[in-house]
Amino acid sequence: MLHTETVSRELPHLIRRYRNRNGSENHGLSNLKQYQLRYATRKAAGLCTSTGCSTNAAVGHTRCQRHLREISERNKKQYTKRMCKGLCTYCGTRPGFWGVRCMICRQKFTKHPLPNGARRALRRYRQAEEQHRVEQSQVGAKLAIRKLLANGEIKGKRAKALRLYAGVDHGKWRTYSEVGKVMHLSRQAVCQLLAPSKATLARILKDNVPWRPVRENW
Ligand SMILES: [Zn+2]
Ligand SMILES: [Zn+2]
Repeated sequence: MLHTETVSRELPHLIRRYRNRNGSENHGLSNLKQYQLRYATRKAAGLCTSTGCSTNAAVGHTRCQRHLREISERNKKQYTKRMCKGLCTYCGTRPGFWGVRCMICRQKFTKHPLPNGARRALRRYRQAEEQHRVEQSQVGAKLAIRKLLANGEIKGKRAKALRLYAGVDHGKWRTYSEVGKVMHLSRQAVCQLLAPSKATLARILKDNVPWRPVRENW
């Protein structure tokens, strides 16, 4: 495959070259205008736009096959050189960002401002943060549950369901179904038994609880 990506980026180099050679910017710009005119004329005539080349341009290109190959070779070398230095393969000035292009240049080639790898890392980081938040709120909730059970504010079946749900004895939180199995109750019945305790805990812990909010109007 021919690497002709940077062909359209040659004009800034020309400005610099003309400026350096002639010492004056105006002179450089008039030369540039002449170059642009020559370029447009040759392009319109279907000729290769490389200076001094009299061959027809290849179909769908502004250069002949030979010049396209030359440009491709040059670009391949430049690509490899920039890759080795860890620089953006497109601009060659900034370091690569999650790939061969820098953060600015990659936006010309993609819809998403962040690459897949970066988005995956962010997603995992957020998941880990959420997991940490849940674990922290579980610790806080279990402490509050122990206090409620100790001072006898919750009694009877409600206390047993809460004790089983929070795993006060075994350490591991149980689902409604698991609590139901131990107490020989339906999942729905466990849900109803736990609802007042969960609402009380939500109030005590200012909604920092490891479950979805429960309505208090039973
Ligand atoms: Zn040519
Ligand atoms: Zn770049």
